[in-house]
Amino acid sequence: HDEAAAARAAAKSASEGGPTIFDKIIKREIPATVVFEDELCMAFRDVNPQAPTHLLVIPKERGNLSQLSKAQEDDKSMLGHLLYTANRVAAQEGLDKTGYRVVINDGVEGCQSVYHLHLHVIGGRQLTWPPG
Ligand code: C5P
Repeated sequence: HDEAAAARAAAKSASEGGPTIFDKIIKREIPATVVFEDELCMAFRDVNPQAPTHLLVIPKERGNLSQLSKAQEDDKSMLGHLLYTANRVAAQEGLDKTGYRVVINDGVEGCQSVYHLHLHVIGGRQLTWPPG
């Protein structure tokens, strides 16, 4: 019960703009396998990979981008940078030769669990469609 309550509290805090686990990854307070980084964003391996390659691309400064549906006009360049970076890291993994998938889960029905915008880069096996 305590664990479930703590998870609900963390999700509520995060969805309201509080810090998330990704802030700790950015500050190197918890370990992550970082595969790419520049001044604006960071890409690291998902701890619970859904395919041989599963990376997350995140902005270093979340700002109002807790989720895609909060995006504003002045977030357009960051959104473009994240998508461009998703392809760069996919290519770094050799996925440009085979194909891959980029996913953004938004909100409750999108199954978002961390309220700091992130692009999933998934590949290295034949993926299926439609998603679950
Ligand atoms: O789209 P969603 O919000 O569900 O994705 C969050 C992702 O962050 C999950 O795939 C989860 O495995 C990953 N994660 C991680 N490292 C953490 C916490 C979550 O890679 N410390």
